[in-house]
Amino acid sequence: MTETLLPAPKRRPRPYRAPSRVGKEFLIRTFGCQMNEHDSERVAGLFESDGMTMTTDLGRADVVYINTCTIRENADNRLYGTLGQLKAIKDVNPEMTLMVGGCAAQKDRDYVRERAPWVDVVMGTHNLDRVLDLLDHAEHWGPITEVVDELQAMPSSLPVKRELPHSAWITIQVGCNNSCTFCIVPSVRGPEISRRPGDILDEVRRLVDDGVVEFTLLGQNVDTYGRDLALDGKRRPIFADLLRQVGAIDGVERIRFTSPHPNDFREDVALAMAETEAVCPQLHFPLQSGSDRVLRRMHRGYTAAKYRDRLAMARETIPDLAVSTDIIVGFPGETDDDFDETLELVSEAQFDSAFTFIFSPRPGTAAADYVGEFVDDAVIKERFGRLQQVQDRASLARNQALIGSVQEVISEGQSRKNFSIATTRARNGKLVHVHGHHPAGEKSMVRIEFAGHHHLGGVLI
Ligand code: SF4
Repeated sequence: MTETLLPAPKRRPRPYRAPSRVGKEFLIRTFGCQMNEHDSERVAGLFESDGMTMTTDLGRADVVYINTCTIRENADNRLYGTLGQLKAIKDVNPEMTLMVGGCAAQKDRDYVRERAPWVDVVMGTHNLDRVLDLLDHAEHWGPITEVVDELQAMPSSLPVKRELPHSAWITIQVGCNNSCTFCIVPSVRGPEISRRPGDILDEVRRLVDDGVVEFTLLGQNVDTYGRDLALDGKRRPIFADLLRQVGAIDGVERIRFTSPHPNDFREDVALAMAETEAVCPQLHFPLQSGSDRVLRRMHRGYTAAKYRDRLAMARETIPDLAVSTDIIVGFPGETDDDFDETLELVSEAQFDSAFTFIFSPRPGTAAADYVGEFVDDAVIKERFGRLQQVQDRASLARNQALIGSVQEVISEGQSRKNFSIATTRARNGKLVHVHGHHPAGEKSMVRIEFAGHHHLGGVLI
């Protein structure tokens, strides 16, 4: 069958319709960030609204949806590896419909088709609401590619299948107005669009009625939330107000958010965090580099001194704050001195945890063109190892400082590796392992008795 390339739909179709695939099963595989996980929950919700049930068994799946990421080269490699494996399964079961969505599909639609012509649907990040229509098309008329440049529907307005019954993602903003030179997000997710506060608060109220107590507000740069919204004769909504408004809703027990930007994170947000009981003492504060020269070339908009000041302000304002960060090792042109400055800042900041990445050039980003300045692999590896050692020491020390403390935890269900242990999450975002069977959503108080690099161990009190 020939592939159909559709233009952007003129009218957005209704997201709800009578279920037409009762008895069929779907499997979703998600690569990348929390935004993608949130999108996958919406795709799962749409599939369920059409009568299908979720499976983790590839052999049973009638529909497979791969939600792709393109932020790092590794994610691309894993995607094409996965698509290769799926071809073998599709050869045996040609009735299976294979759909590829997400950032890699948005950016490299033709390349996905070229590398994996057996894919039935290639769709982008802006038209999740069309997933069932595109599935219909593929089943009845053959392969289709539909990638549009403008957002058709806020993901949060679509049906959802949540992984945890007590916890929900809430999109407050999509896209990004920054231009970090290593980042592909602005070109695949577009400019910032904020959701109106009334819509967000309505969704939170509905979810509370549904039993949800924990909310993670999602945006690429939540601190600039509301800047694009029309004034309507009033003050523009700001993120600090939104935190207070969500926190004032009866039944909201925990609020988290990701991600703030060190350049835009101000005292009003820190105060709102400290003064709103439901907001958890947890901050993801992406550093990327401790060298001013590298930060400038990354277009991050802050210096190491400004980062230090804002981190200190956050810690002074918010009691018991747990801080995580992102760091890129081997940005083009990073010298030994630049890296030492990163190491010094990381050692001084004592982050609770860090996501450390090796720079990988993403076609379409400015940094991908700094070819003559790429850092030697062996040098990067050595730096990466040193950074991990410093961070591991800090993570362990921060966790050990909690031994003996009492923490409120909510269970996320039994551990997949050890069924006799439940994985729970404390207010500060840390994972706490607790013996016994504790269904997802169960709240308890525990005393911390063990601290590892990446998790704590607690006993019920
Ligand atoms: S702030 Fe920078 S790193 Fe974050 S999404 Fe925007 S461009 Fe990417």
